[in-house]
Parts: sequence; C-alpha cells; structure tokens
Amino acid sequence: MAGIIPFVDLVAQYKSIAGEVDRAFHEVTASAQYILGARVERFEEEFAAFVGVDHAVGVGSGLDALRLGLLALEVGRGDEVILPANTYIATALAVSEVGADVVLVDCDPETYNIDPAAVASALRSRTRALLPVHFTGQAAEMRPLLELAASNSVEVVEDAAQAHGALYEGRPCGSLGKVACFSFYPGKNLGAYGDGGMVTTSDPVVVERTRRLRNYGERAKYDHVVKGVNSRLDGLQAAFLSVKLPHLASWNEARLRHADMYTVELEGVGDLGLQKRSPSSTHVYHLFVVETAERDALRDSLAERGIQTGIHYPIPIHLQEAYSDLRLGPGAFPHAERLAHETLSLPMYPELTEEQIRRVTDAIREFFASGRPR
Ligand SMILES: *Cc1c(COP(=O)(O)O)cnc(C)c1O
Repeated sequence: MAGIIPFVDLVAQYKSIAGEVDRAFHEVTASAQYILGARVERFEEEFAAFVGVDHAVGVGSGLDALRLGLLALEVGRGDEVILPANTYIATALAVSEVGADVVLVDCDPETYNIDPAAVASALRSRTRALLPVHFTGQAAEMRPLLELAASNSVEVVEDAAQAHGALYEGRPCGSLGKVACFSFYPGKNLGAYGDGGMVTTSDPVVVERTRRLRNYGERAKYDHVVKGVNSRLDGLQAAFLSVKLPHLASWNEARLRHADMYTVELEGVGDLGLQKRSPSSTHVYHLFVVETAERDALRDSLAERGIQTGIHYPIPIHLQEAYSDLRLGPGAFPHAERLAHETLSLPMYPELTEEQIRRVTDAIREFFASGRPR
C-alpha cells in the first residue's frame, strides 16, 4: 500500500510556496508589526479587491468575523437570526454570543444549502438577519434569500468560511449580503498558519464599527467609544495570506479538477450519492461530499486502507447538547439529520494527485463490490 492519503495535506501546500512564505516571515519579524499594521492593511485591501467589496476588516477568527459582523449590524437581544441546521457550530455560536436567538431551518437535500422556502416560513417580526452558509464551497441560493430579506427589511450576513473564491451568478461570495464573514483557519481554501478571519462589506458604517469592535472599541489610542473585544488579525498571518491569495484561483481550479475526477469515477457506484452542483454557483470544493446509508462502514473500510475522511457534520446544531435549550429533538430537520448520518467527505486539497484519487475511488468501488459489510 502506498502510504496514507490524508484528508487535507497542509505540509504539501507549505512546501510548494515555502520560499515566499519564509521571506514574508522575515519581513514581518524585521518590521516588528505583529498586531494589525501595514501588512494587515495591505492584505485587507487585497482581499476586499478579490471579493469585490469596498472594505475588509481582519479579525481573529471566522467565529469573530461572524460575531463582530452581527454586532456591527446591532443584532442582539430580542432579535432572531435564521441559519441552517447543517453547519459548523460557529455559525450558531456567533448568534448566541451577541445575545440573539438562533432560528434553525432545514437544508435542500441535494445541494445541502439552506432551503429558501424554509427560511420564508421561519420569518417572523423578530427576525433581524438571515445567515446563509455557502456550505462545502458552493454558494447558497442567494437570489430568493436576498428577495426575502429586502421585502421583510432584514439583513443578510453570509457565512463564507468555506467559499473563498466561489461565485454566485458571477458575483463573488462575500459580496452578496450586507456583511460577509470568512475564516482563515488553516484547513480552509485560503488558510493562515494559525487562526484568522475577515469581515467584508461595502457599508461604511459597518466597516467603521467592525474596526472599532475588534480593537477594544478604540476610536483613537486609549479613547474607547464602545465595549469592544480583542480580535485582531496579526501581521504574520496577514503576510502569509498575502503570499497565498494569488495562488487561490489555481488551487480552487485544482480542487475542481479533483472533484470532476471523483465524479466521473464514482457515478453509479453502489448506492453512493453525490452532492448536486447548483446551476447558479461555481463550486470551490472546500469539501467533496458523497452520501450512502452505509457511511460508517465505508469510512472504516477506507480507514483500513489508509484513506482518511471527514464528516461534516456528524451532529446537526439542534441535536448538539450546547443547543438543548432549543428543545428540538430528532425529526425536526429530516434533511440535515439524514446528511449527518449518511455523508462522508473524501480527501480534498489542491496537491492531491490523480493516483491518490484513483486509490480512493478504487477502494470505494471495492467496498460496494465486496458484499457490503453490515
Ligand atoms: C470554519 C468555519 C467557521 C469558523 O471559523 P473559525 O476560523 O474556525 O472560527 C464558521 N463557519 C463555517 C461554515 C466554517 O466552516
């Protein structure tokens, strides 16, 4: 057997750009601009241009981007925010942390993105914002969501943590809502070498509030106008991200090529299902997801062959112990619950080779051909 195939391989990516990254490290240490500073400002400008918005504000994490973005819109106690039940916990936690109420809805069973019809049914007078997630790297169905938001005077905040570079009807994710939030967690399509996040917006009020909030509510040194937090992008991460951003398009293209190869090789294999591609979005394949009722057995079988996989996510938000206060038991969101039981994320990163992909698809074919354990 030809070694382990990891779920993601951050070392392979570092090696491909090590010279540039190491130079950036030395530049920042020589300048000692560790917190905010010129490299952060430069990356904010680069990222805003990439997303096609007027402003980007670098913060400490994706969770903080969501939290500060919501605070900048003055979402808080007494407000409701609508989000999908099948997302990473951070989407919900950000809403809870600003004091607003989490209102969950189910997803589309084929694209896995938030279901606009379910959002329409969940809208109430207390709804202040919609928080769609561009799940797995494919844009949520934004047109009906933006229409619903406009006709009900609520804000749209995008969780774009999995969708750096994805386009919805030709427009970049991160430029569609009033505010959008990105994560630079190392495993994301654009990842730092530590934590980091970004708020993008073209609204001058939101950008000013977010800039203050991330830095202790400071207007000028030691002059604090609001009770802010400490959540600042640091100079090293910004410099690394500036090095990586020009590579993102080719990395996303590589992910798409790998996804195409997986798709060709896996179509019609056993009872395996594949995530549907939305006609209105490009897909940057943060995750490549397959589904089968025998998910756990398939996962074990791949693990025995040295193939690492992920589950995104095994427990939907409403069944998390942390959200038992929502009092929503099993059955509340059937699609999200089915995905939690049946989906499996295959190895996906730009540096994946055709040989590795073939090993994965051969192993899956053999699993379904071998009489299916259990
Ligand atoms: C990763 C992620 C986040 C949180 O980002 P962090 O940088 O880890 O705080 C939020 N939402 C989604 C959908 C994510 O995938």
